[in-house]
Amino acid sequence: MSENNFNRRDWLKISGAGLGLLGGVLAAPGVSSAGMIQSLRLYRSLQQGRELDPSAGLSLIMIGTGTPIPSLDRACAATLIIAGDYTVLVDIGRGSLIRLAQAGVLRPDLLLFTHFHSDHISDFGELMTMRAVSGADAPLPIIGPPGARKVVDGILEAFSMDKRYRVEHHGEAFNGAGMEVSVTESQPSVVHDQGGLKITMFEVDHRPVEPAVGYKFEYKGKSIVVSGDTIKVPIMTEMAQGCDILVHEAMNKQLVEMGADKMGARMKKMSRDMCEHHTSHTEVAEIARDAGAKKLVLTHMVPDPMNWVMEYLFTRGMHQIYKKKIIVGKDLMEVKA
Ligand SMILES: [Zn+2]
Ligand SMILES: [Zn+2]
Repeated sequence: MSENNFNRRDWLKISGAGLGLLGGVLAAPGVSSAGMIQSLRLYRSLQQGRELDPSAGLSLIMIGTGTPIPSLDRACAATLIIAGDYTVLVDIGRGSLIRLAQAGVLRPDLLLFTHFHSDHISDFGELMTMRAVSGADAPLPIIGPPGARKVVDGILEAFSMDKRYRVEHHGEAFNGAGMEVSVTESQPSVVHDQGGLKITMFEVDHRPVEPAVGYKFEYKGKSIVVSGDTIKVPIMTEMAQGCDILVHEAMNKQLVEMGADKMGARMKKMSRDMCEHHTSHTEVAEIARDAGAKKLVLTHMVPDPMNWVMEYLFTRGMHQIYKKKIIVGKDLMEVKA
């Protein structure tokens, strides 16, 4: 069939056949149409990412709002900052790679680490593989506190055979450079100041985990602060002074305590240990109030507020302290600064 003869009627026939086939597949037992459409969308994200507007302002996508405690609805820690068409991913915990695919951002321009607990790093190797599969052909810049190089090198070493298989198998179609990195280990300071985006790393207190840091993002007169994991620290209030969005971890220690009472001695001890290196929900409200943050987004919440009743119980007492908007973070939630 020549190109000229390929007319509207042919298109209709082909589309009809395609729809028929799709309908047949969807009608097959055990196939959920919603699940299939989701899977096709994830697959498409490998070839075509989200369209970003270079003239846009500062915003974020909550990629992962969970904790190490497994959750079907929450990936582990990951927050995507978008400044114009420049994307910065803060942490990459378990499950966040799928969320990045859902968000259509498999190739962030920069990766930052807050600390090296597993729930902040686990999907890094997968990110590097999918980054190269989706066509990245240059190393990924990474900034983190000291230790970043050891963690990154270790994970890349574990993925080095996978990389070799893919390079050998796919030849030029798979560019190994997409799995390379350039790591900068930094002390708390301004770690990035380009294209109008300024990123400041600051030290938090997540002991016995050291180092641990948070980040402040400033772009076109707006600002976002991401706490990382920490107890309440004075510097958070300083860094978040007048910010548009404060993304803060939160633990409702009363609810954790109630849950701990029903656990065995070993889990009870671990729950109580956990309370000692995180910020309570009312302390988060105090920080947001004292900083004059315009919006507060809760993340890394323990226990997981898995429905609106739990959200109500989790945030009880916060609204009396912080009068502005408190957003209970959910995976893939988008917030503009
Ligand atoms: Zn941690
Ligand atoms: Zn964590």
